[in-house]
Amino acid sequence: MAEERGKYKGVWTLSEQREGKLNSVSFELITWGKDLAKKRNTPLSTVLLGHNLKNDAVELIKRGIDIVYAVDSPYLSYFNPDIYLKIITSLIEEYKPEIFIASATTTGRTIMPMIASKIETGLTADCTGLDIEEETGLLLQTRPAIGGNVMATIKTPNHRPQMATVRPRSKNIPKRDEKRNGKIIKKEFPDNYYVSRIKRISFEKDKTQDIPIQEAEVIISGGKGLKDKKNFDMLYKLAHLFNGGVGASRAAVDMGWIPYSHQIGLSGKTVNPKLYMAIGISGAVQHIAGMSSSEITVAINKDPDANIFKISDFGIIGGLFEIVPLLIKKLEKEAKNER
Ligand code: FAD
Repeated sequence: MAEERGKYKGVWTLSEQREGKLNSVSFELITWGKDLAKKRNTPLSTVLLGHNLKNDAVELIKRGIDIVYAVDSPYLSYFNPDIYLKIITSLIEEYKPEIFIASATTTGRTIMPMIASKIETGLTADCTGLDIEEETGLLLQTRPAIGGNVMATIKTPNHRPQMATVRPRSKNIPKRDEKRNGKIIKKEFPDNYYVSRIKRISFEKDKTQDIPIQEAEVIISGGKGLKDKKNFDMLYKLAHLFNGGVGASRAAVDMGWIPYSHQIGLSGKTVNPKLYMAIGISGAVQHIAGMSSSEITVAINKDPDANIFKISDFGIIGGLFEIVPLLIKKLEKEAKNER
């Protein structure tokens, strides 16, 4: 077994192409993988499946990838789990990576468990930390467990590759280095690899968000303290003034005040905006798990002991129904003066 394990070398990431464009999570994974590859003294490689890939493969190299395994086909112009499974397991069997990581996007969350079960290895989903154990060289996969109350570090000692998904938007995108060179290995597969039981009928974009919260630089988030669905209008108004998005706690989503696509936290989305405003949110660990890497956090809460203040850069103790309208008024006045 140990001899078999020794044949597996290198750190791989899964790059994602969406609507013909590289998804930014592909670059975030480089930041995750670079450190692991350095500690294992191996190259950092990526698997890139899609159509018309040339520029994307070069872009990945300029941002830190050493080897791109590229599979280019019109059948790969959108994500098809059946086809992805056949191609990626075949690449793993041929090149034997020691570590394989992907982002916990819809693609990553779907395909990684399928691959792990097919090749019979372990997978830790939704990691918040990855590292290499000094003594053993094993991948340490850290994620919240038991409702976010403890952090569990998981290892895959006996099977290869060691697989993990990481939360999107939890790392910065590496800078482009024009001088970087790498290798693009183009792989081709026979026609039967592209036969699938799955047919794509259409793609519907999420229409519940003007600005998707995972891309917003400013997020105005509301919780149970808002008391009613209609009070979210005020948050939309405030968000609009910042050209930002609206987020929510699970309590607000559970009350039916705002769709799930806005939920931030352990069982919602992870965000890292420049400014995060938590309004009427108590700051439960499960909420913080989704927004703690925000650059600046501002909390508005009437309870001076609310947990959210412990992780905030600025705290306003007071009633949100007085403070938010004042903020809107002030920002509107400023916007008018600038015109
Ligand atoms: P509350 O905890 O009820 O807080 C409301 C806050 O509003 C209070 O601090 C109160 O002081 C303040 N307030 C009230 N009135 C006013 C006013 N007039 N002005 C100013 N402040 C006011 N939660 C998430 O958010 N995201 C998740 O992804 C998530 N996942 C979970 C996963 C699991 C497995 C579990 C067990 C829980 C999860 N939760 C999640 C739920 C989480 O534990 C909390 O219950 C939830 O975050 C609480 O939401 P809240 O802060 O809006 O409500």
